[in-house]
Amino acid sequence: MSVKVAVNGFGTIGKRVAEAVLKQDDMTLVGVTKTKPDYLAMIASRMGSLYVPEDRVEKFQKAGIEVQGTLKDLLEKVDLVVDATPGGVGKEYKPLYEKFGVKAIFQGGEKHEVAGFSFSTLCNYEEAEGKQFARVVSCNTTGLLRLICALRNHFKVKSVRATIIRRGADPAETKKGPINAIVPNPVTLPSHHGVDVRTVLPDLDVQTVAAVVPTTIMHSHVLNVRFEEPVTREDVLKVLEEAPRILVIPSELSGVKDTAKIIELARDVGRKRYDLYELAIYEESVSVEGDELFLMQAVHQESIVTPENVDAIRALTGLVSKEESLKKTDSTLGIVR
Ligand code: NAD
Repeated sequence: MSVKVAVNGFGTIGKRVAEAVLKQDDMTLVGVTKTKPDYLAMIASRMGSLYVPEDRVEKFQKAGIEVQGTLKDLLEKVDLVVDATPGGVGKEYKPLYEKFGVKAIFQGGEKHEVAGFSFSTLCNYEEAEGKQFARVVSCNTTGLLRLICALRNHFKVKSVRATIIRRGADPAETKKGPINAIVPNPVTLPSHHGVDVRTVLPDLDVQTVAAVVPTTIMHSHVLNVRFEEPVTREDVLKVLEEAPRILVIPSELSGVKDTAKIIELARDVGRKRYDLYELAIYEESVSVEGDELFLMQAVHQESIVTPENVDAIRALTGLVSKEESLKKTDSTLGIVR
């Protein structure tokens, strides 16, 4: 069986998910939507898969961009839509997805309630089967959950405290900032990220604080995890090194000690758009004091949710097991573990 997929919203997340879907042998990308006739619309049109809202067909035709049909035409043809429209827009589309009887995957910019089920491959893949809607949690939450669920598979986690240093904007977002400030986000504590983690792990004692800084390439997290019992640094490192989609940056790679160097590494190994799907953890930062773990990690915000979106398609449609989906997604995206 091949799941027929649409991507509504062909921006930072949508274009990456669409390309990832094209690489899978058990799903077919039927089409993507654009609202503006820009260069991305031209790329989608050349792929022969561009659909637009009903009232924009003329606008695209005037710009010389051929469209295959309207969003409604596209929804007629698919089993599932990945909604990658800007945060808050996805909920407006939910009634349409319901009307057309398609499954839908929303993104982290939507509230948990829009889908009623928040998804993270390592934490709750199996719970998605049979559901109509899922929401792939945000980039920061995906990073936190990868770490937490990898640890929970081996240790009893008592509490998690995280300080999140957020990128100010994605590289192309020239209207966003800050360009010269560190902005508490929010200034009242805690931040929403811990709340978001609990949409997937409701029983977890987790609190987060966050600040936005002038960088575009990655988020950084400073983590403090408390366990029910003492652990050793060696045991923690072994678990992290063996966990899927976690890249422990070895101490021996002495040049790689900041987000710029991590991105340079992604460039040098030939990752398209310097996408780093893996959660990057600095080995040297991993420290254990009795029952407490401290570490620092980095999240490439534009790409970390790509593999989770591909898995969510399989999880909602019951195509294959979690282990098989991890294997398929990671091998096609070039993720080595
Ligand atoms: P984006 O602005 O880069 O892309 C959104 C796309 O949707 C654009 O192509 C835009 O033209 C299109 N669009 C706008 N209004 C539309 C409409 N009414 N109907 C259809 N398409 C419309 O946004 P993004 O960064 O890709 O974010 C998409 C979602 O992913 C959001 O929920 C966001 O919170 C989440 N997310 C973003 C990041 C990130 O770092 N950019 C990371 C993880 C999750």
